[in-house]
Amino acid sequence: MAVDPSNGYIKAMVGGRDYSESQFNRTIARRQPGSAFKPFIYAAALDKGFTTIHQLMCKPIKYPKGDGTYWIPRDYNNDYHYRPISLREALVISDNVVSVQWLKKLGIKTVINFAKRAGIKSPLNPDLTLALGSSEVTPLEIAAAYCVFANGGYRIEPIAVLKVVDPQGRVVMSNTPTKKKVLNERVTYILTDILKGVLRPGGTGAHLKIYGPAVGKTGTTQHNRDAWFVGYTPFVSVAVYVGYDNPKRSLWSVGGVVAGPIWRDFINKTFEIYPQKDFEQPDGIIVREICSETKKIANPTCPKTKEIFIPATEPKQKCPLLHWDDLLDEHKNAREEQSKNDDGNNTHEDNNDKVKNKKESSEDSQQTPQDGNPTENWSNRPDFAKGLQEILNSKEKAGN
Ligand SMILES: [Zn+2]
Ligand SMILES: [Zn+2]
Repeated sequence: MAVDPSNGYIKAMVGGRDYSESQFNRTIARRQPGSAFKPFIYAAALDKGFTTIHQLMCKPIKYPKGDGTYWIPRDYNNDYHYRPISLREALVISDNVVSVQWLKKLGIKTVINFAKRAGIKSPLNPDLTLALGSSEVTPLEIAAAYCVFANGGYRIEPIAVLKVVDPQGRVVMSNTPTKKKVLNERVTYILTDILKGVLRPGGTGAHLKIYGPAVGKTGTTQHNRDAWFVGYTPFVSVAVYVGYDNPKRSLWSVGGVVAGPIWRDFINKTFEIYPQKDFEQPDGIIVREICSETKKIANPTCPKTKEIFIPATEPKQKCPLLHWDDLLDEHKNAREEQSKNDDGNNTHEDNNDKVKNKKESSEDSQQTPQDGNPTENWSNRPDFAKGLQEILNSKEKAGN
């Protein structure tokens, strides 16, 4: 199922494997979407002002079913991560346990209303299994609803027939695109940025080779009965569903493996038709260097990642940890690299430059104005660099 996010025009619709075998159009048949539903939960969270770095614990949690028994959601491998998982990571790795918690935190009603706002029309079960995509939707409505993420927040109505003209040339019926703004373009930009991770190392679609700017989400249901890959470029939103008409029959593998390659082949073909243009960044997106461990503003010793935020939602506190061990490892690696280069008859300057550049960049980050609590600005203390050097020296001696 392929829909143009700018106007809702249906660009391709394949309802089955062979029309001579079966005329049943499966693009309008309801099936459980599994994790392909999760982007609606995370978009609802971003819409509520939560950020990509907001963390929830992945651990066993019991939810009363109301009949005296409990539902205990697990991750795909029947296990738990037993650590805090950021909103970004949870969506990229498709964490079940954390997704259920997000649904609980946001409110089932909020998420259902959000999905309806995006264009989901099928009834959605008002219970926590919704987080794992237990409510059935059609490939048509999910491809149309993902258009909201692709086009900067406009809900579109899918259009199959532009107009019907009678033999006299009179227009009997016509459809014109309707667009309604339902989501802030900064939210859709951040969600798209997260979904890019699905196709990168560590994501559930990392094995798929895509030749242009595109994002997507895998979906698999219990016993591999349904396999989905739903995703989009700025020019087309595509949902691929693989499953048997007999809902009890299971597939041989998960959504990323079964439906992913079909989606990949289709999307890669679209790059021959549409320009290879990346998603447009709206105004008012800010970037901050974040400590990948504590998810606070990075200090010079932190392992860092860059994160995007809607202004005023970014973290203010600086990471209070001193990640000496990481720094020392880095330093040790640099030294080893240098001695290797020495053996290889290389000049010292290359590596000295590297070390110098590193120093300069950490000085840069110290100079970045921070809004944090001044008492936490320990890295601005003049003895910081001296202390670090002393520790590095003593560690080296001990190491030798
Ligand atoms: Zn987990
Ligand atoms: Zn840190």
